Amino acid sequence: MTPTPRPPSLLARPEPAPVGSAKPAVLEVVGLTAGYGDLAAVRDVSLAVGRGEIVALFGANGAGKTTTLLATVGAIDRMAGEVRWHGRATTQKVHQLARAGLAFVPDERSIISGLSVLDNLRIGRGAVGAALELFPELQPLLGVNAGLLSGGQQQMLTLGRALAGLPDALVVDELSLGLAPLVVERLLQVLRTAADERGVGVLLVEQQAHRALTVADRWYLLANGRMAAEGGGGEAGLGALRTAFAATIDRVRT
Ligand code: ATP
Repeated sequence: MTPTPRPPSLLARPEPAPVGSAKPAVLEVVGLTAGYGDLAAVRDVSLAVGRGEIVALFGANGAGKTTTLLATVGAIDRMAGEVRWHGRATTQKVHQLARAGLAFVPDERSIISGLSVLDNLRIGRGAVGAALELFPELQPLLGVNAGLLSGGQQQMLTLGRALAGLPDALVVDELSLGLAPLVVERLLQVLRTAADERGVGVLLVEQQAHRALTVADRWYLLANGRMAAEGGGGEAGLGALRTAFAATIDRVRT
């Protein structure tokens, strides 16, 4: 069920509890600071993803979305703050968290060109049949070199493989990069179904906010490496996001 959208709160320090959600958080980030070398790219970022919730993370180029995801899934070190998995603080790295049920789909599609679609599915954590159930489009392509697939087919392969592993949470960076609108809608619907039917908690970075908010329950907005606002899904959520985004730009200008 989509929670009632709330107006955005322009928060310097958002509450870690999910907005408008009574669902227990599967994944939480509290006071995260992370970056590269000695330089922090994101500071004091907090967010939460409940079971069966789709949460979108928005922000302008360079706002810190990818850095936030990478630090959340343990792909880069944190400088400060905490990641909580099923309510417990964890310091596990990306591969350990993947085994524990936190799947990560990075922005560069992690298919292996040179291997067939079938072999790419076989190296996943789940059953090949489960991925094909989600994306029957892949069935006739099983023998094809994955490097020859279209961008949309590659993203179906990546997402199908990740969801076939029956994760408790899925973190996806730039889902729709370079993909046709119909494919994006298809991918988003598969995420919604996974959230609704399997209770997967989804944290999603997606440039096309209007599309993301057709399936997302809530959103967060990053600006200059800090959490700037948060709000609900749907049309009202999109309006609130636009207002909040404009405010962050005005803040930079003034
Ligand atoms: P985009 O939408 O353009 O991918 P983003 O919101 O995902 O942007 P990040 O990629 O997290 O933003 O980048 C946040 C900041 O960290 C930017 O200033 C960026 O230049 C810097 N940055 C990102 N990756 C690296 C890196 N590998 N080394 C050094 N700085 C980096």
